[in-house]
Amino acid sequence: RMSRVYNFSAGPAVLPEEVLREAQEEMMDYRGCGMSVMEMSHRSSMFQQIIDEAEADFRSLLGVPDHYKVLFLQGGASQQFAAIPMNLMRHKKAGYIITGQWAKKAAAEARKYGQVVELASSADKTFSYIPDLSRLPITEDMDYVYICQNNTIYGTRYSELPDTKGRDLVSDVSSMFLSEPVDISNYAIMYGGVQKNVGPAGLVIDVIREDLIREDLDEDVPTMLRFATQAAAGSLYNTPNCWAIYICGKVFKWLKNMGGLAVMKQRNEEKAAVLYDFLDRSELFRGTVARRDRSMMNVPFVTGDKDLDAKFVAEAKGAGLENLKGHRTVGGMRASIYNAMPKAGVEKLVDFMEDFEKKNR
Ligand code: PMP
Repeated sequence: RMSRVYNFSAGPAVLPEEVLREAQEEMMDYRGCGMSVMEMSHRSSMFQQIIDEAEADFRSLLGVPDHYKVLFLQGGASQQFAAIPMNLMRHKKAGYIITGQWAKKAAAEARKYGQVVELASSADKTFSYIPDLSRLPITEDMDYVYICQNNTIYGTRYSELPDTKGRDLVSDVSSMFLSEPVDISNYAIMYGGVQKNVGPAGLVIDVIREDLIREDLDEDVPTMLRFATQAAAGSLYNTPNCWAIYICGKVFKWLKNMGGLAVMKQRNEEKAAVLYDFLDRSELFRGTVARRDRSMMNVPFVTGDKDLDAKFVAEAKGAGLENLKGHRTVGGMRASIYNAMPKAGVEKLVDFMEDFEKKNR
């Protein structure tokens, strides 16, 4: 395996080795054009082909209906925290479900543009569960309902979408992007930063229902943050992150070759089960999340002893298992096991945990 480690980082995160090798091969001379994709004009026909193919493959993987636009944008998911209310808040009111830091940050940003109603929250138990969705105080005058569907830091995910009572649903899927099939028609906007499950940092992909791409916004909405600007220019209003779009395109092809998102879901379920099954039978380690809300992608766990957690992280690193330290607000450990993490990596982690448990009980 050369000198590569198993990288459990929450993001930027592991990418498929096949994709890295291909990019390496094309680095000096992309398909006979004598330059790398990093050096290429975004107005060239060569790059146009790259972005067109990336969009076509993305659409076919997710089954994006024709009346949804796919935009390749910059500013990360965090920029969308502002762009979404700027583009969608007609009545200046939206409902947010607070399931962690990222939902909280999105709500705080939206508050700059209108009224934000906190529909539910799991802050009372360090966001270790998804709140009850059966009695959300959603009202007619809300422009949209916002969720963060997989919570990277806390390791929770929605097992079902909330009933939005006809309001538009906006979902941040950054840390579960392309990990399983989804029905796009359930969403008004589904978006995510790609640096977790899909590609390199610096690119966010928005899937937006066409009628939400409007020209008649408040005048002070910046040109770059208007979905209409980006949609009219095919994500090429200004110079995009060409490199990230190129690598994502390769990852889309890798996903198609793997058999698509249904196959990825099965693989991801199997991988997650290896780790969760161990956590459930371990006498040293335990998961921190309510069982039914467990993420397939981010798996936080603790020993209950801070010093032992630190020892585990250090020794795991020594064994080629990297970036297992948990987020500072949760402590302990977190293993992010995105699409590109092979099952062998999770098995090696569990073997290492079993061994650590024997030596430290
Ligand atoms: N949403 C989620 C769910 C995330 O995990 C992150 C990044 N950790 C963000 C948003 C913020 O992403 P970015 O750094 O691309 O702004």
